[in-house]
Amino acid sequence: MDPESGRDETGNLGVRAGGIAAVSREPLKAAEEIDGRGLVLAPGFIDPHIHEESVEGEKPGEFRFPRQAAACALAAGNTTILGGNCGESNYPVGKYLIRLEKEALSINCFTLVGSTVLRRTLGIGDYDAASPAQIARMKDMALEAMDEGALGVSFGLQYCPGTGFAEVLALCEAVRERGAFFAVHMRYDTPPRAVETVEEVIAAARVTGAALQISHYAANVYGVSDHGNNLEITSRLIENSGADIGADMYPYDTWATCIRSAVFDQGFEDFNFGVRDLEIISGPLAGRYCTPELFEELRHASTDTNVACHNAIPIKDLETVYRLPFVCLGSDAIMSIGSGGVKKGHPRAAGSSARFLREFVREKRLLSLMDGLRKLTLLPATRLGLGKKGRIREGCDADLCLFDPETITDNAGYGIETCALPPSGIKAVICGGRVAYIR
Ligand SMILES: [Zn+2]
Repeated sequence: MDPESGRDETGNLGVRAGGIAAVSREPLKAAEEIDGRGLVLAPGFIDPHIHEESVEGEKPGEFRFPRQAAACALAAGNTTILGGNCGESNYPVGKYLIRLEKEALSINCFTLVGSTVLRRTLGIGDYDAASPAQIARMKDMALEAMDEGALGVSFGLQYCPGTGFAEVLALCEAVRERGAFFAVHMRYDTPPRAVETVEEVIAAARVTGAALQISHYAANVYGVSDHGNNLEITSRLIENSGADIGADMYPYDTWATCIRSAVFDQGFEDFNFGVRDLEIISGPLAGRYCTPELFEELRHASTDTNVACHNAIPIKDLETVYRLPFVCLGSDAIMSIGSGGVKKGHPRAAGSSARFLREFVREKRLLSLMDGLRKLTLLPATRLGLGKKGRIREGCDADLCLFDPETITDNAGYGIETCALPPSGIKAVICGGRVAYIR
């Protein structure tokens, strides 16, 4: 099944030297063969939104790698992941990419450069405004990072309240100059402010002409406000903007974030959840739920803790968002590695692709399998500027996923180790022409 051509037929695919050499109804001969009868062969899934994981005992300033995120992604059918999201990335990008190469991860890993990191490099506090000279410097740093290999710039406006519109525009100018894109974790995440928060990023895209990817769209935009249904209103604004705007979303109603972050500066009044819906997903307390006392303690602790915020997003808003043609899947993987290599985190790192295909495509029939696959392959490939990925065509990269659409099921849950459980129904993943995963 190829979402670019719409081709959905039975046949054979031949791979040579990392590329797709033949797509044919005729038999092909090869040194190594995989029997895909009864299964679907699709382009390898592309996840445009992951986070590099923290490792217990790491020193501040050390590079973070997506080792666990890559392992989870591969077993979930992905052949490409993009890190450096929500304003947080490794920096300098060139040095990081050289180190990442040595990690020899089994899938393709790319990064954005995070604006929050550029600010911190210049000594600007997250709540402080940047001066015009600092903004000019950040623009140069962003250009340099893209020249070193970053696919674009990410913002975490909510995490960095000091980021002003002039600063956003300067970095978007850099993005436009390089033909890249900017990804934004928007400034607000409560229903009353949903429309203004989307208007801000649309304005940045329109003024500068830079392509925009809205991160975890329905995590920031859900529910109703005085304007009406927030997703209906903002999706119309996006579609009528005339700008190149896409979005990604993970198929869970549960957020994950850092407990010390600005997300919790405003209290819980406008959220759908309370402090007791917070489940700790990193560090020694992983698996416990917050009490008001524990929440206060962790808010002021010297190291930050990841929490899953249950019941944050109405399920019907997830259904709405996946019907929108400009929305693709993005897992927003957040993992951490405890002592002895114990895996902690939100199940979306391991479960997103299979959960989407199971719940939203197979069970609820919100979209056809081909349209579902488009959100996992062609759409993110186009956003990332990867013209030879996300497609099944001779001459494209041999990044492929072989799976059973009737049985594919997510198995990851909340909790230590279970968060990384691979889905069922994925038979093989081919990356760069090599069998990277087979069951
Ligand atoms: Zn985010």
